[in-house]
Amino acid sequence: MREVDVAIVGAGPTGLFAAYYAGFRGLSVAVIDTLPEPGGQISAMYPEKAILDVGGFPTIKGRDLVTNLVAQAAPFAPLYLLGVRAETLSYRDGLPVLALADGTELSCGAVLITGGMGGFTPRLLPAATGYLGAGIVYFVPRLDDLADHDVLIVGGGDSAFDWALALHPLARSVTLVHRRDRFRAHAATVGRVRDLPVRIVVNAQVTVLHGDERVTAAEIKIDGATAERVPVDTVVAALGFTADLGPLADWGLELDRRHVLVTSTMATNLPRVFAAGDIVDYPGKVRLIATGFGEAATAVNNAAVIIDPAAHLFPGHSSEG
Ligand SMILES: Cc1cc2nc3c(=O)[nH]c(=O)nc-3n(C[C@H](O)[C@H](O)[C@H](O)COP(=O)(O)OP(=O)(O)OC[C@H]3O[C@@H](n4cnc5c(N)ncnc54)[C@H](O)[C@@H]3O)c2cc1C
Repeated sequence: MREVDVAIVGAGPTGLFAAYYAGFRGLSVAVIDTLPEPGGQISAMYPEKAILDVGGFPTIKGRDLVTNLVAQAAPFAPLYLLGVRAETLSYRDGLPVLALADGTELSCGAVLITGGMGGFTPRLLPAATGYLGAGIVYFVPRLDDLADHDVLIVGGGDSAFDWALALHPLARSVTLVHRRDRFRAHAATVGRVRDLPVRIVVNAQVTVLHGDERVTAAEIKIDGATAERVPVDTVVAALGFTADLGPLADWGLELDRRHVLVTSTMATNLPRVFAAGDIVDYPGKVRLIATGFGEAATAVNNAAVIIDPAAHLFPGHSSEG
């Protein structure tokens, strides 16, 4: 059984800032996430988008904000347990014990839940069955991996068009296929993509993928026409995600639909368990990165005095260190 002062469930922006904050307070930290990369919704859905409403950054690309958050926490060496889900919460000698899907157990001074929308699962492309990791991806952690690829993007929302914008400078070709002739994406983004050498195929579906060990081609069927076979190295299926609280729903937390109810200290109804970010609810809650940052600081400072009753709630100013 590992011991840690604060276990943070969720490595989205709120969890990453909480990791910095707990380190700043001299607390040891573990950060757990089901996803293989830190960054939560930002890494999964909009790493290439410019974010305009984070204090101190007139504009910052999603990917860069995540890199900065990881760098900010790095001096305190948080233990990252990525690609593994937090499954159960129990208590031993009054302390929370988290059990992870890989069998790891963490005895914690406090738990901070920053689980966002819960675990999110991509909507699957039926034709892609069997090709996961072999030319089909649901988000693109590193753009460079697709350099010189013939890329086929499936979807008509913001993510699909954002991937088209991000990938066209380095891919050999980009084709975007959507089953309707109208898009959910912002009109301005659609307009920018239309001005690029990106082929947009509407009223069409990807019906079959070809390739032995990896995808090499796809068949695109336009309504009322015969199927067309195009060369493909990577299919980016941008069909959206479904969100589910998953095991957190069974921890005995007081919930309102998919949200954890907290007090003004970010405490939940369970002893030594706090929550912050998109997952929480209280009157007036606004789901933004900036709000999550503030809640993370409140949660960690209030956890600090529960872990060590001699500690002060106010941490002092970081600039005075
Ligand atoms: C397309 C898009 C654009 C956006 N643009 C902006 C913007 O411009 N400005 C802004 O302020 N906000 C924006 N948002 C909202 C912003 O992304 C969220 O407010 C923010 O990501 C919330 O951060 P979080 O850390 O609370 O949760 P999340 O980012 O959702 O991270 C939660 C993490 O918890 C993990 N998790 C959940 N359950 C478990 C479990 N049991 N075990 C392990 N891990 C678990 C998940 O895998 C996930 O990685 C945007 C959102 C989207 C979708």
